[in-house]
Amino acid sequence: MNHFELLAGADGGAELACEGVPLSRIAEAVGTPVYVYSSATLERHYTVLRDALAGAGLKDPLIAFAVKANSNVAVLRTLAALGAGADVVSEGEVRRALAAGVPPARIVFSGVGKTEAEVEFAVRTGVAEINVESEPELHLVDRVAQRLGKRQPVAIRVNPDVAAGGHAKIATGKADNKFGVSFSEAERLYANAANMAGVRPVGVACHIGSQITDLAPMEAAFAKMRGLVERLRAEGLPLERLDLGGGLGVPYFNQPEPPSPADYAAMIARATKGLDVQFAFEPGRVIAANAGVLLARVVHVHERPEGRKFLVLDAAMNDLIRPAMYDAFHDIRPVRPRAGEAVAYDVVGPVCETGDTFTRDRALPPLEAGDLVAFMSAGAYGAAMASEYNSRLLVPEVLVKGAEFAVVRPRPTYDDMLAREATAPWQG
Ligand SMILES: *Cc1c(COP(=O)(O)O)cnc(C)c1O
Repeated sequence: MNHFELLAGADGGAELACEGVPLSRIAEAVGTPVYVYSSATLERHYTVLRDALAGAGLKDPLIAFAVKANSNVAVLRTLAALGAGADVVSEGEVRRALAAGVPPARIVFSGVGKTEAEVEFAVRTGVAEINVESEPELHLVDRVAQRLGKRQPVAIRVNPDVAAGGHAKIATGKADNKFGVSFSEAERLYANAANMAGVRPVGVACHIGSQITDLAPMEAAFAKMRGLVERLRAEGLPLERLDLGGGLGVPYFNQPEPPSPADYAAMIARATKGLDVQFAFEPGRVIAANAGVLLARVVHVHERPEGRKFLVLDAAMNDLIRPAMYDAFHDIRPVRPRAGEAVAYDVVGPVCETGDTFTRDRALPPLEAGDLVAFMSAGAYGAAMASEYNSRLLVPEVLVKGAEFAVVRPRPTYDDMLAREATAPWQG
């Protein structure tokens, strides 16, 4: 459920709103394209997941929101205020989490290529857990922490070798993906880590992919993780935490209905029954995707003589790359639906690449130049992946709460954009 609904507009017609704010008001004030997030939806998704996990008897889990899904500081603060932690994959994301008020004790640092500088920053910050993804990385963390006179809690990230995830580019749990180590390697590294002065192994972690709509591969992976925890403990190694990653899918309108948080939680309780650990989770998409839309305006309706109709928007692949990158489907809704028969449109942006096509032959209510449309389910991996490709200004972001809205990332000016660059001294 989300808080983007049609409300009765001032002129009597229905109009799409975010909570109590008509989207047209935001478009007028901020311009388009613009991302719009609902605080109530973010809060709801977090609390539904938290309560489902608690309801399944998973005691005191660390729910670390995957910052890469939506790294806006105001979004992070909305979740941090509810007690969310942060799963981060770069120093920049650690800094964002801290800026949003996430305590270091609730920050988990994942990722296969943390640099020495990033590890140093994380150790100094005192993050709860660094998820170590390889043997060289374990040695790096040990070395850096020893130099700083610290003993850094780490978890070993395992690659459970299961196939899951909505698209090859976001499946992470197969043995030929770059993430994590094998189970036998994890046992060896965990035992080694227990003897290192700079690290303290506190647990094991996995994250098998994203947009997972079938619980079976997750359950298979988690059963394997449970076996690993039992083997490590049987060897006398202390282990407190089991980090099961993120990856739960969301309804993208035309896709298979994903499992509910309650079913997800029940599956975890089943797969880990009797295991006395603190659980950690790294949900991203399931919290943020349906809490945001990308609002755009129709620039032209361009009709080819042979009949193909292009809806040319002022939003492009640089603002929302998921369709071009992952063949992702986003429901597209007119902000003020016009009466009339549905029309099949190719919905495109102005970027000079054929890949800048959001969808083809999509049946939509009739639209005209100047109309507003909303790309639904754009709150995760939307603004966070935006760029200035084609020298288009970085897309702004707005956060709504009730009847209020605030610009939480302003649109830069062209002067801002140009001021970041310089010519070389020899160019005069
Ligand atoms: C991307 C990522 C997540 C979040 O995945 P979602 O599908 O958005 O829930 C969690 N953990 C790690 C390590 C990730 O890389």
